[in-house]
Amino acid sequence: MSTLLDRLDLPPGLAEEERLLIGSVRKLAADVIAPRAAHHDRTAEFPWDNVKAINELGLNAMFVPEAYGGAPVSYAAYLVCVREITKACAATGSVWSTSFHAMKPLIDFGTEEQKQRLLPKIAQGGLGCLCITEPHAGSDATGMRTRFTPEGDQIRIDGGKTFITNGDVADRYLLFGKWSEIEDQRRAISAVVVERGTPGLSVVRTEDKMGIRASSTAALAFDSCRLSRGNLLGAPGDGLKILLASLNKSRPSIAAHALGIARAAFEDGVAYINQRRQSGRRVVEFQGIQFMLADLASELALCERWLWHVAALVDAGETDFAVEASMLKMRASDLAMRMTTDVVQLLGGYGYCREYRAERLMRDAKITQIWEGTNQIHRQLIGRSFVER
Ligand SMILES: Cc1cc2nc3c(=O)[nH]c(=O)nc-3n(C[C@H](O)[C@H](O)[C@H](O)COP(=O)(O)OP(=O)(O)OC[C@H]3O[C@@H](n4cnc5c(N)ncnc54)[C@H](O)[C@@H]3O)c2cc1C
Repeated sequence: MSTLLDRLDLPPGLAEEERLLIGSVRKLAADVIAPRAAHHDRTAEFPWDNVKAINELGLNAMFVPEAYGGAPVSYAAYLVCVREITKACAATGSVWSTSFHAMKPLIDFGTEEQKQRLLPKIAQGGLGCLCITEPHAGSDATGMRTRFTPEGDQIRIDGGKTFITNGDVADRYLLFGKWSEIEDQRRAISAVVVERGTPGLSVVRTEDKMGIRASSTAALAFDSCRLSRGNLLGAPGDGLKILLASLNKSRPSIAAHALGIARAAFEDGVAYINQRRQSGRRVVEFQGIQFMLADLASELALCERWLWHVAALVDAGETDFAVEASMLKMRASDLAMRMTTDVVQLLGGYGYCREYRAERLMRDAKITQIWEGTNQIHRQLIGRSFVER
């Protein structure tokens, strides 16, 4: 592998303990998670074995502040861990990082009492899920219909969510819905934390997917589901603010996931064409192939550099970086799709067969262009940011 990509492999300024932690994550990914990835893809079995191995290393602790039983690291170090786990198994990467996406709003907007009560479970290895999408409200999340009705010190929840990663296995559900007493539909959006086992919460179905097959994707129903008002995040109507802030933190993580898939494909492709010979030469020696590599490597290098740029903004406490996060999510996921498709091409007929993981990476890559805002939506957000008001 070229020195160029080695140099970009880690963000600048990591602490020594973070480098050591990343070393342990890489070893876990290579020795334990990667060898099982084909099995999990084939069977779509939820990767409990990987979740257990991740918890044995205590990796969930990095999601949670120390005061609630965690051991946080920089956002940059977290993104490296997402990329490394995903490189080994994209389904496991999505299961693990979803708990971070789901718990970040609670950390940023929850009260002391809520954090003391709800976070230790996650630090100890519990799973979280983030419930936004509904059958009629995908790209336009403000169209959600799930309703929160206050009843004394309780909130009654009625509605349903769809495509929820970890939805059937989570311990904590970060759920968005509309406060019944607020008329304005955007201002009505509110957020609550639902705990596993709350009566009225049920799993309706799970999806059989093209890629990240072992991660579970569930449709959920909330039928007169009651929870304490103490589980409301912020005030009624704070939901949109919470939603936008939390997407800003999860989109770079989605990009790290996409870049894990892209890196895995690039490394496989380069290794293969350095061995494979046709017409008396190694495939890598054909100029047409070198042009492909040049484009792929340049795009990978630029996306990784931008990943570290956005990570540095987050670590510096910057809050206004939505456009940078959109650019990152869009470019990294478009690259993951292009990279994996081109690497299947580099492997020729073998790339099309399951003996090599290139075809799995290609299926896994597709979701990164769809979730956390489709890339059409990100193009719209980026373009719209230049309209003078
Ligand atoms: C495997 C998987 C896991 C997921 N995990 C989660 C999760 O954990 N939590 C969660 O809340 N959601 C999750 N989602 C949902 C995901 O975020 C949505 O699927 C996504 O936001 C798109 O919504 P939609 O599927 O309803 O598509 P739609 O919004 O119906 O879009 C259909 C098409 O129309 C295009 N389109 C829509 N609006 C516009 C526009 N304004 N301009 C141009 N084009 C537009 C879209 O780009 C797309 O091509 C998951 C989805 C999948 C498949």
